[in-house]
Amino acid sequence: MMNIEEYKNVWVFIETEHGKVKNVGLELLNQGKILAKANNEKIIGIVIGRDMNDVVKSVISYGADEVILVEGEEYKDYSTDGYTNVMNKLVKKYKPSVILIGATINGRDLGPRLACRLQTGLTADCTGLDIDEASRAIAWTRPAFGGNLMATILCSDTRPQIGTVRPGVFKKTQPDESKSANVIKEEIHTPADEIRTKLIDFIKIAGEEGVKLEEAEIIVSGGRGLGKAENFSIVKELADVLGAAVGSSRAAVDAGWISPLQQVGQTGKTVGPKIYIAGGISGAVQHLAGMSSSDIIIAINKDPDAPIFNIADYAIVGDLFEVIPALTQQIREYQNS
Ligand code: FAD
Repeated sequence: MMNIEEYKNVWVFIETEHGKVKNVGLELLNQGKILAKANNEKIIGIVIGRDMNDVVKSVISYGADEVILVEGEEYKDYSTDGYTNVMNKLVKKYKPSVILIGATINGRDLGPRLACRLQTGLTADCTGLDIDEASRAIAWTRPAFGGNLMATILCSDTRPQIGTVRPGVFKKTQPDESKSANVIKEEIHTPADEIRTKLIDFIKIAGEEGVKLEEAEIIVSGGRGLGKAENFSIVKELADVLGAAVGSSRAAVDAGWISPLQQVGQTGKTVGPKIYIAGGISGAVQHLAGMSSSDIIIAINKDPDAPIFNIADYAIVGDLFEVIPALTQQIREYQNS
């Protein structure tokens, strides 16, 4: 039987893409620090890749108490076999209590593979993280039964406790460039014949246009109020002038007006941008579940009683076909002045 007392500290897997840190790792460092502190433990960033100097600096500035770094030519791009091998060996050596991984495409691949190899539990696609008072274990919260209820899950008997967490659920902290931390370099190599997949090329996902929702500081979203697919063009124009990502409600996705990749909400993406602009979206609870942590919410709706106005910082009661183009024009004029 495993002695769970031997396992200490909270790890965050720092995912990178083309050598750059993805926001979700930085968000998890911030929340992970709160969890680590509550149990008097350290928050440790796990960096795997090639030429990771800048990434390590960034991870320290965003709050890591320590970084474990594994570099190698074979880790330049993510591979299931290579990254699982590294994580598995690191866990066996250092025995972390918790591993937080972004619920991205790669994170959703790595988490279960690692959990299986370590014979421990994994809670996938979490939207909430807390500490269970009685056991001091992580209380992982995630939507269950198609999003109709929220389940809180404990991993009671095995360690590490592993979870994938949706991007945008937590906020990253302000970076502190003056911060320093211990960096432990580990030499772990994975022979080429043990990596069974080969990356040939990166191809953009069809329908994924412009700025990515999870990375965006500003999002302009459209809903059923747009009436038809072609009308999304006004949302895209406003997003373009703001350098924003385009989001949508599920109604617009179900109508086939926009790709499911752009859906915000309980069964879509969770986002927390600085500004979220919602046009023609009523504000159903399932939509709010994905965007209510945005810093500033601007809602445009012709119905003054639309529920979205209950959480909006700025409520514009009006026809979106007048308001959105007018906003776009005003911003363009301001930018050109
Ligand atoms: P509506 O509710 O129809 O609202 C359209 C709004 O547009 C109205 O408020 C109307 O006043 C306004 N409007 C119309 N014309 C104009 C105009 N010319 N100018 C200004 N305003 C106008 N929904 C999500 O968004 N994301 C999810 O992840 C999600 N997950 C779900 C999971 C489950 C299990 C279930 C049951 C539902 C889920 N839904 C989700 C669906 C959700 O319940 C709502 O049906 C959906 O969000 C409604 O989308 P909407 O606001 O675009 O449409």
